[in-house]
Amino acid sequence: MAGSDFDLVILGGGMGGYPAAIRASQLGLKVALVEADKLGGTCLHVGCIPTKALLESSELYHRLSARGQEFGVEADKVRFDYARIAARRDGIVSQLHKGVQFLMKKNKIEVVEGRGRLRDRNTVEVGAKQLKAKNLIVATGSDVKELPGIDFDGEFVISSDHATLAAKVPESICIIGAGAVGVEFATLYNQLGVKVTLLEALDRLVPLEDEDISKEMLGTFKKAGIDCRVGVRVKGAKKARDGVSVETDAGEVWARQLLVAVGRAPRSKEIGLEQVGVAVHPNGFIEVDEWMRTSVDSIHAIGDVVGGFLLAHAAAHEGMTAAEDIAGQRVAPMEQELVTRCTYSHPQIASVGVTEKQANDRGRDVKVGRFPFSALGRAIIHGETGGFVKLVADAKTGQLLGAHIVGASATELIAEPALTQLFQGDAWELGRNIHPHPTLSEAVMEAALSVDGRAIHI
Ligand code: FAD
Repeated sequence: MAGSDFDLVILGGGMGGYPAAIRASQLGLKVALVEADKLGGTCLHVGCIPTKALLESSELYHRLSARGQEFGVEADKVRFDYARIAARRDGIVSQLHKGVQFLMKKNKIEVVEGRGRLRDRNTVEVGAKQLKAKNLIVATGSDVKELPGIDFDGEFVISSDHATLAAKVPESICIIGAGAVGVEFATLYNQLGVKVTLLEALDRLVPLEDEDISKEMLGTFKKAGIDCRVGVRVKGAKKARDGVSVETDAGEVWARQLLVAVGRAPRSKEIGLEQVGVAVHPNGFIEVDEWMRTSVDSIHAIGDVVGGFLLAHAAAHEGMTAAEDIAGQRVAPMEQELVTRCTYSHPQIASVGVTEKQANDRGRDVKVGRFPFSALGRAIIHGETGGFVKLVADAKTGQLLGAHIVGASATELIAEPALTQLFQGDAWELGRNIHPHPTLSEAVMEAALSVDGRAIHI
């Protein structure tokens, strides 16, 4: 297009937008990035990073206070100071925020501050400014969802944003929703000694995961003292007795605070999508193909606003896929089944590919390999023997179709089966890889060997 100021303008500088900007710049494009709030988006400021920083502190506190003696460490006077936990959280976010700002300069990306909207197929408007480009990427992310009739007040009824940025923890909390965000906060509060009630409408915790993972989670959470109630429908909530009374179809739950963690809604409204003709699904997510192209030639969309797995690494990968497509250098299309899903609760959960049930539902004949951490030297040394690795492979060819891990460092271990799936590898190949001993990664190797009945330690 003649007369463009840029090759590419990106709307939203979160985990989708800023990696897309960097990749496009690496490929020689002139890029502008429009950000209404702070570079790094949800993930950096109210998502992945601050929550994991909090969990690191709660885990350390819990390990020392509840289990120190088991390891021969006298730690009977361990206390936590939440103000300092929060200060550490903020310091980590601030350090990484500076890092992203530096990367924008290093890659010569023009950052435009302000709320933007699409004016036409090649223009983003930010206040009085009009940024013209041959291509646009929409990367506006998502917002916390409210439950109808239960409004956030930031004090008694809170969202994950409030919980993440809070300066203190309550004595008791009720959490609605046992997805990734719900179980991570349940872990955080439980490890800090807060009384937690976890409500889930479906019949199991982490309902998107393999059913065996849900069972393991329920057992471990109950043992840790979390009051888990599944198959419970919330009817309403009201302020009562200096806390919140939650009305459910199985009775009342009272807690000092109520955290509503029932998912995220795409930020696809009031950004000009209808005006320029970008097709949006009735559920609000922008429709895209596997190259992240929308229904309008010059416009791609990435990250939470397009749906799929609402995860930071998925957003970043989609950003790189879109940038490469725009630069005419397609590498590989986006494949949702290759997205690793990670939950940083205790125990951790990680998965990739299909569950055993999904494979069965698709009529695939599968064989399953399992290995429990209780049979692994490193897990015993680590004091984390709960959980297992479960692998799902094609019954005839042995090709790995899915991996499901619950237990210590699951989120680190999942990268290897994910790589095997990217390479369309077989379970026996994963088992043949020589794993270092003693490490938790041997559980992946043993599970792979067990697909063909060849595990050594069970
Ligand atoms: P965002 O990160 O939301 O970025 C969108 C950006 O666009 C924002 O900066 C916003 O200000 C900007 N914007 C919006 N509208 C406009 C506009 N009109 N003009 C200009 N700018 C605009 N994922 C993981 O992978 N691992 C985790 O551990 C993890 N933990 C999470 C914990 C919590 C509590 C939450 C809420 C989420 C977590 N996620 C995690 C999910 C992750 O944060 C998101 O998937 C990721 O941030 C999506 O990136 P995005 O770029 O699509 O959107």
